[in-house]
Amino acid sequence: MTSVSDLIATIDPGRPLLLLDADEVLLRFVERLEQYLATQGAELRLSSFQLSGNIFHRGSETPVPPEHVRDHIAGFFDACVDDVPLVDGARDALDGLREVYQIAILSNVPSRCRDRREASLKAQGLDYPVIANKGEKGPGARTLADAVSAHTVFIDDLPPQHTSVAAHAPEIHRVHFIGDPRLAKLIGKAPDAHVRFNDWPTLGDHLHALAQGQRP
Ligand SMILES: [Mg+2]
Repeated sequence: MTSVSDLIATIDPGRPLLLLDADEVLLRFVERLEQYLATQGAELRLSSFQLSGNIFHRGSETPVPPEHVRDHIAGFFDACVDDVPLVDGARDALDGLREVYQIAILSNVPSRCRDRREASLKAQGLDYPVIANKGEKGPGARTLADAVSAHTVFIDDLPPQHTSVAAHAPEIHRVHFIGDPRLAKLIGKAPDAHVRFNDWPTLGDHLHALAQGQRP
């Protein structure tokens, strides 16, 4: 089971560290979630950047209550964590970036699904350690950043995670990234991120430039 301390034992302190979220950064989470909800007689209506309040039983105008949203998300991970497809360009970009960065995936996947998520990513060409985080990511990012003398980069689609990392580890370079184009249109750059991108080729160029000390 990969934990923050397991990962630290393998980290090279002299190499930059890239901490990647999985859902909507590496994986097409929302697209796969919509397919799952259809099997449950439910649907996602993307009118704002959140799940709660936007999941409906088919034909209903009343959103399902928050506890049912949680049940749907839990059911989604149990049923689908093995076959969530990659965001376009992620694998090719990381193949180039792994020369420069040590890469780890900091995902709020339920811990019971961590092994399956890591195996699924590996099967799709992303052979990187997966840490199953719970809740805010700032504390874990702080601990990991302290294990390297080189710089750390954090990438996530959720604005509150940028706020958390900014509070705990302000020196980490924070990239707001949203893989689904429909979701990407719903919000601007997270206030506590440094930059925002929606596609992997552009993000990859930014990360290469950062590693060369040229923050664009
Ligand atoms: Mg995410």
